Amino acid sequence: MKASIMVLPGDGIGPEVIGKSVEVLQKVASKYGHEFTFNEAIMGGIAIDMYGDPLPDETLRLGEQSDAILLGAVGGPKWDVPGGPRPELGLLKMRKHFDLFANLRPVKVYKSLINNTPLRPELLEGVDMLFIRELTGGIYFGERREQGDSDSAYDTEIYSVAEVERVANVAFRAAQGRRNRLTSVDKFNILASSRLWRKAVIELHDDYADVELEHLLVDACTMHLLTRPASFDVVVASNMFGDILTDEASVMSGSLGMAPSASLGSGKFGLYEPIHGTAPDIAGQGKANPTGTILSAAMLLRYSLGLENEAQAIEKAVEKVLDSGARTADLVPRGSEYQSTNEFAQAIINEI
Ligand code: NAD
Repeated sequence: MKASIMVLPGDGIGPEVIGKSVEVLQKVASKYGHEFTFNEAIMGGIAIDMYGDPLPDETLRLGEQSDAILLGAVGGPKWDVPGGPRPELGLLKMRKHFDLFANLRPVKVYKSLINNTPLRPELLEGVDMLFIRELTGGIYFGERREQGDSDSAYDTEIYSVAEVERVANVAFRAAQGRRNRLTSVDKFNILASSRLWRKAVIELHDDYADVELEHLLVDACTMHLLTRPASFDVVVASNMFGDILTDEASVMSGSLGMAPSASLGSGKFGLYEPIHGTAPDIAGQGKANPTGTILSAAMLLRYSLGLENEAQAIEKAVEKVLDSGARTADLVPRGSEYQSTNEFAQAIINEI
């Protein structure tokens, strides 16, 4: 198959982890007979330096002509200038522009990393869940009033039935492709927007009768994630609840550097990126773990290009390399030996 992929290295460790992920995709292309074109563009701090704009129009246009986008990370202390343009705005603008309303974050515990997490190993056995966070609505985009001269401020959470349905559809379909279980998270007992959320999910369930649906209040969900993490399959939540729960759950994969994500809209087009930031403290030192980005590239193959076998080939290669004992700096105690970003990624490429 032929595919055109826009690559946005971004800032900090972004270029290091993106470079290796492109090599992984090139290996997949040559092994499985595909033709991938990689178009590199700029976004984030580097785009502010060059054009004074975190998301230049040229980057958006190139994105529109692509099948998918692979992004490193954006931001850093250099651009933390009061009143100055913020690199992260490029990311928000990109999600809005392409209407990427569903953010998928898988959380998997690798057997060989089970001791890298603060939870007891017996709780983590078999953890394999997929979070689906609503990404373009809710309280992060609702009307707000800053404090200013007044002694109060407010934010508003607004969801329409259509907004809930479209993200819940993604979640039900994902559950059908996995273990047929969906947990919908809300705060039904207090919030009107949550009562709309739950009603819309229940009504949609009629179309997915084969999926077992449970509803959890967000406060209970934070607890259940720690007491019975392996029981979750697909979890769907609003923008803010999903934001909080996915950070809690990401701890289970052993390091921030391990976790991938996909942001999807109604078509096949998607934006794929690791969940970590630009890690300015380790940039340029060969200490970045490329796994989150490499697994994001696997998600790109799965969701935007429909190449399930190829996606699994990458995921299996990551697992094998971890099983072999290879570790990046973030996965070993300080002062221990570790593989550089390049060495670790090369081991994955060799394994594919
Ligand atoms: P961060 O994720 O960059 O780093 C947090 C800690 O995790 C650091 O100690 C870092 O060294 C470590 N870490 C992160 N990724 C790693 C990897 N792949 N391998 C090994 N260690 C890794 O978060 P932060 O320090 O809060 O933010 C740094 C910058 O990144 C800020 O400017 C922030 O705004 C930006 N940021 C961007 C995104 C994004 O582009 N999606 C997300 C989060 C933060």
